Amino acid sequence: MKLSNRLLNITQGGSDGWEVFYQAREMKNSGVDVLELTIGEHDKKTDPSIISAMDASARAGNTGYAIVPGWRGLREAIAARVEKQTGVPTTYENVLVTTGGQAALFACNVALHDEGDVALYCDPYYATYPGGIRATGARAVAVPTRSSLNFQPEPGEIEKRAEGAKSLLINTPNNPSGVVYSRETLEGIARVCKRHDITLVSDEVYDTQVWEGEHFSPRALPGMIERTLVVGSMSKSYAMTGFRVGWIIGPEHVIKNLINLSTVTTYGVPGFIQEAAYFALTQGDGIEVSVAEVFRHRRGLAREVLAGSNAIRLIPSQGAMYLMLDIRATGLSGQGFAHRLLDEENIAVMPGESFGASTAGHVRVAMTIDDDLFVDALRRIVSFTEKQVE
Ligand code: PLP
Repeated sequence: MKLSNRLLNITQGGSDGWEVFYQAREMKNSGVDVLELTIGEHDKKTDPSIISAMDASARAGNTGYAIVPGWRGLREAIAARVEKQTGVPTTYENVLVTTGGQAALFACNVALHDEGDVALYCDPYYATYPGGIRATGARAVAVPTRSSLNFQPEPGEIEKRAEGAKSLLINTPNNPSGVVYSRETLEGIARVCKRHDITLVSDEVYDTQVWEGEHFSPRALPGMIERTLVVGSMSKSYAMTGFRVGWIIGPEHVIKNLINLSTVTTYGVPGFIQEAAYFALTQGDGIEVSVAEVFRHRRGLAREVLAGSNAIRLIPSQGAMYLMLDIRATGLSGQGFAHRLLDEENIAVMPGESFGASTAGHVRVAMTIDDDLFVDALRRIVSFTEKQVE
């Protein structure tokens, strides 16, 4: 069967950057005690009250086809959450419920790109970004950021690549770097978007996990409401990764058109999942806060352990569930470091190169294991790193 270029170009036939993760899983399956600090999956599971709400909904018969754009109650609850967080008037007609943030990102790419269009994205990036852009026939162009600026994007770098670009994809709080874009950065980005008629796709799935500064949604900036699509999700904020429920916030006419995409792809999100999400969103912010607290606490522990190390520079980790460690003092690449750490210490971390050229010579540590194991892993990473520089 001859496959389409769009499909084959998603990974461009190259590595997907997840070799260390696969190797760690294989080691685990063969009985080796591996500490996995790789993927953004909570160790503390979904609040039982959310599971009960899902169960009650399914048992009450909510197991048929759901309304494609999302049940109005859920769309309203999402709109209310966004309006409360950002102050920007938002109604259910600005909301499309999707199968997770991932499907929301894909829908944004379909909404904005024709074959050959240029789509910009900030590097480092969530690993699916360029593939998602290429899957819609567009050309993915990375905008580099600098470790010395803690990966805060520079609007000037975006400006250099902006001529003719259709879209710009950003992510704050950022996976993998932990940077929270400052208001000043976002204002600069908004200026570039307006000057070059670029649509901004703002991935805000970590909006409740901010440890330093404040999350600010660029949709709230003057003149941006009509040119911004916001991607949100229940995955990270409510530890509901497996439920697959997220959303897009955008202008009414965009949402109306995107409903057609959902109709021909997912045909909506299961009704009992939507009710579980509705339940979660209407319980006040207690659940979100307790999910975030786990990572806030571990981030504090990590700062203590890493403070004494000359070999590792911790990028400040202002938000999200990851630490980015600059290990260039070892002379190793992120990949080389991660493989050696796995082989010698049975600790799995992600090479920075998996998230773009800007984080070469860095590794990403997910703060997703129990506190004591986490501290132990970090101590061993520190002494391993120090041995490499001796
Ligand atoms: N965006 C970012 C930055 C992510 O890190 C992830 C998942 O790791 C997603 C989007 C997709 O999340 P989901 O599809 O589970 O909502």
